[in-house]
Amino acid sequence: MLGAETVALPEAFGRVLAEPVDSDRTLPPADNSAMDGFAVRAADCAGASPERPVWLPVAFEVPAGASDPPPLAPGAAARILTGAPLPPGADSVVRQEDTERSGERVAIRVVPDLGEHVRRAGEDVARGERVLEAGVRLGAARIGMLASLGRMAVAVHQAPRVAILSGGDELVEPDGDVSGGRIVSSNSWSIAAQCRELGAHPIYLGIARDTPADIERRLRAGLAADVIVSSAGVSVGDRDYVRDVLEKLGCRLSFWGVRMKPGYPLAFGRIGDDARGPLVFGLPGNPVSAMMTFEQFVRPALLRMAGARCLHRPQVRAKLAETLHKKPGRMHFVRVVLSREEGAIVARSTGNQSSGVLQSMIRAHGILLFDADASELPTGAEATVQVLDPEFLASDAAGF
Ligand code: AMP
Ligand code: MG
Repeated sequence: MLGAETVALPEAFGRVLAEPVDSDRTLPPADNSAMDGFAVRAADCAGASPERPVWLPVAFEVPAGASDPPPLAPGAAARILTGAPLPPGADSVVRQEDTERSGERVAIRVVPDLGEHVRRAGEDVARGERVLEAGVRLGAARIGMLASLGRMAVAVHQAPRVAILSGGDELVEPDGDVSGGRIVSSNSWSIAAQCRELGAHPIYLGIARDTPADIERRLRAGLAADVIVSSAGVSVGDRDYVRDVLEKLGCRLSFWGVRMKPGYPLAFGRIGDDARGPLVFGLPGNPVSAMMTFEQFVRPALLRMAGARCLHRPQVRAKLAETLHKKPGRMHFVRVVLSREEGAIVARSTGNQSSGVLQSMIRAHGILLFDADASELPTGAEATVQVLDPEFLASDAAGF
């Protein structure tokens, strides 16, 4: 896990909290009114109705921002505004809409419930209460709470720095010349975006030519990062030098090759033996394989480094709308479109599952896990789906 740094509250959005936050105050600080209206003793309003209102003298007014209002005498009302502290003795607030003011008196037309329209001191947060745990990501509500607690600066985990290397003689930059079968190094871009999505900082090491010298020169530039992600060149091809160069740089591989599809030729290791060198992920080059292995292996590792408690995507059980077949031996990560049909979540393949078809990732709401040893998932069977994009749950209607 990376260390902490203190950032100003406006910079804290999206970061992972590095320390628990306990409240040094009570929120709200005092009993106060939830409405514009009149503070009363509920018992003084017994029998009130629109036809036979109860008349009470208006003793004083409590504006928002007032402190220490005077006590409310029995049989009297106080004009009160939203957020203003409740005068001692008052126990309820009658909304302005349920009253009629006439000079120094007010007609109360309803019987309030005891405590109605009163926000109790501490009903949100008690002094000393643990409000946020370390490891949570700071979203809008948590930022609002930190502001309410007067925290202008907050300790968050450092964002992992991820050095991204692409490699291959066929690769060019997006504005490069694609004649002669050259292709754009899209992985550099998709991987950088995957990093950004979870709050990590991508560092671009460029495109290495298929020579050990160029690969080494570029990898060295990434040694100061927390993680190196190299796409392509970790396979068993004649020009796949990345593994050799990594070993030369002192990388000890923990594993190479994972029984998954897409993404078999995945390598993982660490440079140096003092646990301070960067973690190294050698991802396969095919665009879907690179994204998928990032998703399954790099993403949780980066989230762990970033101090996050929650490392994995939400999962749902979905019903197959069609039968899937494969050879046993590797777990398949099937890109699927999800929909809601008759109360169930239904999954359909995005179509061509080739590891070069990036459209399969674009269309995917989720990734369906097809067990390594299985060979068939029949129509109607249930399977686990990692949800990438909850858009299928979105609706044109507001729902209220
Ligand atoms: P390799 O692992 O080098 O054998 O590459 C496997 C496939 O992925 C080949 O078709 C490469 O052209 C393609 N590929 C490798 N690197 C990238 C990249 N950075 N962006 C897009 N495609 C790539
Ligand atoms: Mg290659």
